[in-house]
Amino acid sequence: MWAIVVAAGSGHRFGAPKQFARLGGRLMVQWSVDAARGVADGVVLVIPDTPPEPGSAGDGSYGADVVVPGGDTRAASVRAGLAAVPASAEVIVVHDGARPLASPALFRSVVDAVTGGAEAAVPAMAVADTLKRVEGDAVVATVARDGIVAVQTPQAFRADLLRRAHARDPDATDDAALVEALGATVRVVPGDPRNLKVTTAADLEIAQALAAP
Ligand code: C5P
Repeated sequence: MWAIVVAAGSGHRFGAPKQFARLGGRLMVQWSVDAARGVADGVVLVIPDTPPEPGSAGDGSYGADVVVPGGDTRAASVRAGLAAVPASAEVIVVHDGARPLASPALFRSVVDAVTGGAEAAVPAMAVADTLKRVEGDAVVATVARDGIVAVQTPQAFRADLLRRAHARDPDATDDAALVEALGATVRVVPGDPRNLKVTTAADLEIAQALAAP
């Protein structure tokens, strides 16, 4: 069982690589690594070529077993992480460093689904808002919400399936989409509303409130 934490984004919507922002006493990225460690035998952390705050994490490992530089897209960064996962790993869980509040229990939940026989498992949340399709600033349709969920990370996969899904350097916003494209069945487990994705400065304020002791 290995984990890949992807944290090589540039954070252009945030204004800086947000994964290195402080949350409580740790950097955001360290929260993700620590939670992954709860289920994984090893953790690969994928970071930008030149991570900010050098020295802020002691030896520069941020608590991970292996640290590798990422790629131009999230999918390329996952592939950089995959290359560092030992061939003996049977289950791989991929997590966004931008979701620092994923709990060890949520990691356990997706991993248990895969060790229990699923090919892949992702946390899913019901969508509370009404969904509209727009063109420019005009609404052109209301999208039926039935059967629609919002999907989070961590996402767990049979290792061979994840490697096959990435074999031809495809792109997608999550790994589940790539294994779906191979015809695999992705199971959903209940997501966690606290597991927010920190994209904006406002998200970081919410995460800081949730992380407060
Ligand atoms: O791009 P997005 O905000 O969806 O990023 C999701 C996760 O993927 C973040 O944790 C981000 O750091 C990571 N990422 C990456 N390499 C990229 C782009 C995003 O590791 N080139």
